[in-house]
Amino acid sequence: MTSPRVEIDLGKIRANARYLIRRLFARGISVTGVTKAVCGHPDIAEAMLDGGVAGLADARIKNVVRMRKAGITCPISMIRAPMVSEMEDVIQYCDASYNTEMDTILKLGAAAKQQSTSHDVILMVEMGDMREGILPEDLTDFATRVTATPGVALKGIAANFACMSDLAPMDGDMVRLSRLAAEVERGCGPFVELVSGGGSANLPWALGESSSERVNNLRLGEAILLGTDPVTGHPISGLHTDAFALFAEVIETRFKPISLSTRSIAPEVGRLKSVRNNDLRARTILAVGQQDTNASGLTFPSGVLFIGATSDHTVVDTAKSTVPVGSEMKMGMTYSALMRAMSAPDVAKVVHGKQKMNGSGKEREAYPFLTLV
Ligand SMILES: *Cc1c(COP(=O)(O)O)cnc(C)c1O
Repeated sequence: MTSPRVEIDLGKIRANARYLIRRLFARGISVTGVTKAVCGHPDIAEAMLDGGVAGLADARIKNVVRMRKAGITCPISMIRAPMVSEMEDVIQYCDASYNTEMDTILKLGAAAKQQSTSHDVILMVEMGDMREGILPEDLTDFATRVTATPGVALKGIAANFACMSDLAPMDGDMVRLSRLAAEVERGCGPFVELVSGGGSANLPWALGESSSERVNNLRLGEAILLGTDPVTGHPISGLHTDAFALFAEVIETRFKPISLSTRSIAPEVGRLKSVRNNDLRARTILAVGQQDTNASGLTFPSGVLFIGATSDHTVVDTAKSTVPVGSEMKMGMTYSALMRAMSAPDVAKVVHGKQKMNGSGKEREAYPFLTLV
């Protein structure tokens, strides 16, 4: 098989989605599947839908178009604020978008009217991540202007955590968000249907004991795909962490001294020199590099140590044994490694466990949520 390649176990993605949806359904929280890390790969999106997600979300319109062209008809939202240059496509291919700028919303409304449709707007609120967001004190005024804008409907409000910062939501953040929803309703009228509490970083809260308040949605990418918590990197119990694996081919393997060079470390001192270390270790080179993935986000089989990577080579220490040239090494990936591998043109994507299209509709879990994102 061609390498490097990512092998994808759709059954595990389906199972992860199903598990999270069951747990969160009990608390009145729907799940939107976030496909940006897999570039909107249609088979993966279908696996999330088979697992029961209420809708999908992506940060790039190109990925949304890819899913639409593959025949996916569920609600899809843009979770990155649309660019002026992509308004028409956002209106055509997305049901909703997350926004923070009035100028953008006015243009979205105009584009929607031109296409004789209406577009749902979800307002992202700044709650400490310091990426996108309207300041809480400005939210009601902002929402009032949105409700007065032709072509768009105010659908909900949302918070975001642990994207720029690695801060998980704090105690009380979901109470604050719920209060903001009530405040917007008092200030400008319409029912705030969707209160989206964040992404995978908010699962410790959502799977915990505290009341879900008004929060009725989470947007989950990493937890469904990798089964890990983005803040700690730890596995979330009940989830598969090996739905994805990266395979790369060995192109050199050889015993080499631990260091070859003898050179001055501090020439001004004249005496401090590193000396050649003749202990031999097996070094193995894989035909995969930074252009294909984030090499420092790879996890290797036990006994294999990451030494370094350049654009096209990854060097690992294989201790006392060489590895046959032409054989393959299987690796795990963090979110950033996965994201880069899925978008790299030279990395093949091989899916396992695809269900027959005609059967998948019937096997889908049906969760009667009123709020589809
Ligand atoms: C990426 C993203 C998500 C999903 O985050 P995960 O940590 O992968 O669950 C949710 N919301 C927004 C706005 C995002 O950009």
